[in-house]
Amino acid sequence: MLAPSYLNGFYPSSIPTGSPSQWIVAVIEGDLLVPSYNSSGTASATITSDQAGPLRFFRERSLCVGQWQGIDCEVWELIPEAALSDGFVRVELRSLLAQSGDAEFSLISRALQLLDWQAKNKFCGACGGPNLASVTEHAFQCQPCQISQYPRISPCVIVAVVKDDKCLFARHPNWPANRFSTLAGFIEAGESAEQALHREVFEEVGIEIENIRYVGSQAWPYPGQLMLGYIADAKTDKITIDGVEIAEANWHRYDQLPEVIAPPTIMAGRLIQQFILESKAKYG
Ligand SMILES: [Zn+2]
Repeated sequence: MLAPSYLNGFYPSSIPTGSPSQWIVAVIEGDLLVPSYNSSGTASATITSDQAGPLRFFRERSLCVGQWQGIDCEVWELIPEAALSDGFVRVELRSLLAQSGDAEFSLISRALQLLDWQAKNKFCGACGGPNLASVTEHAFQCQPCQISQYPRISPCVIVAVVKDDKCLFARHPNWPANRFSTLAGFIEAGESAEQALHREVFEEVGIEIENIRYVGSQAWPYPGQLMLGYIADAKTDKITIDGVEIAEANWHRYDQLPEVIAPPTIMAGRLIQQFILESKAKYG
């Protein structure tokens, strides 16, 4: 099936259409194996089925991910030895996502999430019996209980907190000294996205927010997060870090940003770009 234009060329599905060739996302221990001529510059995470021939030997499992531009897409999990194959190079997932376009981002996120979900749902959570995979959808079902398990998506909020021409940038304790980003956190059971925003920002930096604006969402395969992106105004500029989730937080003017920030291909970077655009229009 050809995806409608609003789906950025990618159509998520568990059923192959039988297209003459396929796109393969090749995964090794959470990293991706990509054609080596794409390892720098404008990288592509996908391998054509013609190129992928030599990798079949190393394949442990595969799943249909959907269709991209009408072409079937599969994810292959490979054993680590596959990385030694001529013509391919192993690339860390995060660096590849940072330079992926919208459709490829969707494809990789879905591929990795499905692999992780399949690996962690072999048994029924209610009775402990073995789950059987459905042939018509990405679902597992326990025969005695008839309970179905679908890939679990965990919604998170991510927010650029803004005060006039400045944005709040925070550093997690395990990050390098010069890397800063926007605030983010999981939505708790029973919470709305707005409640999670107020809570997370207050917990992490002691700031109350108002005037929350939704920017967009993005799947984030660590392993099944859905990032809901917002910009919000801070009521005060006094920062009180929690010292646990946040090691350091500072205000930065739109033209004096931290040295290392997220690229605009991922949601944190998209929010920062939006803040810069709005600030330039207002204060530039
Ligand atoms: Zn069961």
